[in-house]
Amino acid sequence: MIRSGHPWLYADSIREQNREAEPGELAVIYDRKNKFLAVGLFDRDSPLRVRVLHAGKPVTIDSDWWQTRLEQALTRRRGLFDEQTTGYRCVNGESDGWPGLVLDRYDATLVLKLYTVAWLPRLEEIVRVIRAGLKPERIVLRLSRNIQATTHTKFNLSDGEFLIGDRRDAWPTFLETGLRFEADVLRGQKTGFFLDQRENRRIVESLARGRDVLNVFSFSGGFSVYAARGGAKSVTDLDISAHALESAKRNFALNENQPTVARCRHETVQADAFEWLAGNESKKFDLIILDPPSLARREAERAGAIQAYGRLAQSGLAHLRPGGVLVAASCSAHVSAEEFFGALRLAAKKSRRKFTELQTTGHAPDHPATFPEVHYLKCIYLKLCG
Ligand code: SAH
Repeated sequence: MIRSGHPWLYADSIREQNREAEPGELAVIYDRKNKFLAVGLFDRDSPLRVRVLHAGKPVTIDSDWWQTRLEQALTRRRGLFDEQTTGYRCVNGESDGWPGLVLDRYDATLVLKLYTVAWLPRLEEIVRVIRAGLKPERIVLRLSRNIQATTHTKFNLSDGEFLIGDRRDAWPTFLETGLRFEADVLRGQKTGFFLDQRENRRIVESLARGRDVLNVFSFSGGFSVYAARGGAKSVTDLDISAHALESAKRNFALNENQPTVARCRHETVQADAFEWLAGNESKKFDLIILDPPSLARREAERAGAIQAYGRLAQSGLAHLRPGGVLVAASCSAHVSAEEFFGALRLAAKKSRRKFTELQTTGHAPDHPATFPEVHYLKCIYLKLCG
């Protein structure tokens, strides 16, 4: 696996380890014949014991090496965005050669999110390289939940800490295809905004003219503001979180300068989406977006999640007017694209109405996914015939 480029080495596939090591030390991996295979970040506390940085021939991993690695990730994104888009992912973990590390840009603020403590001993070096390469005004550190406690006790660093810059302006706004959004970089999910849905938002914009739109699991209204710019008559944001809906209102206000956004009627509904969809069947829409949080967080939940996606789609479809479009996404890595699309096609069939499939989409180009375990995002567009 390692030889063919897979970046994860699990503890139970290590036959022999010559000494104990601290998290973050570089581990050199040899094959059964004692031939060099790869070098990676060691994490004693994780079943994912080594995250490969480099495979093939031995190399020296120093600041120059990290700098080259960062440049590779930035080069990959060159030409994807102009000055109308200042929020995007600069480094997407393993798929960019930075295992367990994500770096997102929100204008002059960078958010560095870590998923393993293995990065912490070399954080200063990494921040120096990032600073030189991207010249940000601020860098905010975010930590996945499972490493927050250790990071605090061992490295005295907390989630939401500023590595450079200060807390002024800690609620940055940024541009995405000319629309302005806020990102809750200190506390928000992921790094504060769902940058991974940009391409789907653009498609939604192109489908929205004259439509009444329902954005289920709206979060901060990303899809909604695009639908409004695309000429939607009305947009209803449905989310269980009052905090998310407040943010959606601010995101609409930030784009009032766009005539179509200013004209669009924006409503928010704070409710459990599953209950609301089941209980308000008389409310009809022409474009419905279903982008729930992951319904399968563990492999054991996979089968249940596939069914839940199907049921959710069925109750969404009941709100769709003739000619309307359902946009359904899944961010669960445990459910494959084919399983998810299958569940949605089945839900459409069960509704006994006639649908055409407009398209399916996957990962955005700034969110590359180079091996199966990190493929998570998929989206399907179903149009109800006349
Ligand atoms: N579509 C969004 C991202 C959705 S994140 C975007 O593109 O930005 C998932 C959202 O679902 C969160 O805002 C969360 O508050 C909301 N949520 C979670 N469970 C919910 C439920 N049972 N009913 C309604 N909203 C829910």
